[in-house]
Amino acid sequence: MKSLDVFRHALTLPSPLVPFEPDWPGAEKVSLYVKRDDAIHPVMSGNKWRKLSPVFKRDIPREIVSFGGGYSNHLHALGYACHQLNIPLTAVIRGNYTANPTPMIVDLMRWGIRICYVDRDTYKKRHDSHYLSELQQRYPDALLIPEGGSQQIALEGVSELVREIDIHVDHLIAPVASGATLAGIAAALNAQTLSSPLQPNPASAIGIGVLKGEGYLESLVENLLPITLDNWHIQHEYHMGGYAKVPHALREFCQQFNETMPFSIEPVYSGKVFWAVKDMLAKSTFEPGAQIVILHTGGLQGAR
Ligand SMILES: *Cc1c(COP(=O)(O)O)cnc(C)c1O
Repeated sequence: MKSLDVFRHALTLPSPLVPFEPDWPGAEKVSLYVKRDDAIHPVMSGNKWRKLSPVFKRDIPREIVSFGGGYSNHLHALGYACHQLNIPLTAVIRGNYTANPTPMIVDLMRWGIRICYVDRDTYKKRHDSHYLSELQQRYPDALLIPEGGSQQIALEGVSELVREIDIHVDHLIAPVASGATLAGIAAALNAQTLSSPLQPNPASAIGIGVLKGEGYLESLVENLLPITLDNWHIQHEYHMGGYAKVPHALREFCQQFNETMPFSIEPVYSGKVFWAVKDMLAKSTFEPGAQIVILHTGGLQGAR
């Protein structure tokens, strides 16, 4: 059995912070960087490792049960980690893919993960306390991890990425789905602001909503944050019709990006973020001279 240390050696941490110089209108007025969490590991989506790492830093769980859709980056990252660490995992998956397993599910099966397909109505109960206590009775030794790995301790893992950044940051931009990533960033930026009170302009976290959820996404972030913070906001005009909706123009944008840039994006998360940055630059949203870090959360497995 590989120990957690051996496993951690396979991770590229701190993840690289690289200058980003696209020929987009407005880009010349600011300094752009990309925090390459997509480079943390070739199989596990970096963002999901950030959120899961606090779970493994504590006592290694004896067994885990978690939730996701058929393309879930979370189940994929967790499945890989459990396979490497010899932890039995039951993946509760929405829908039934027995006849047509997705590439994500094929990977889970290869890694010996127990798969439990549930219908939509059962899956809807994934946050319901009765359902969860039933599940806990069925798996008494298991740690239950919510969908997306999004729970309060996930914020600790996300905060680490902020602490790794060794340049001055005015804005840190990240995608928002369940909100844990943005919440962790806002919390960490706030801690930095408090520890250097002489900074004239406190850093802000800018979330790009990847699904239709004005108001809802804010409430997710607020519920995960231990205290109320005002150093973050979410842009809602870049979801492009909803979660995993990929209009033709976005697909083309990603394709062209991947042909010309030194790293790749996918249309569900990072594609919408870079599209949004391009649009915000064109609209002169940022103050001249701003230092802007774009978080690349990974997720390229989901695009298969
Ligand atoms: C899950 C995921 C996100 C969304 O993060 P949240 O913490 O759920 O808001 C962003 N990018 C990628 C690649 C993801 O897999």
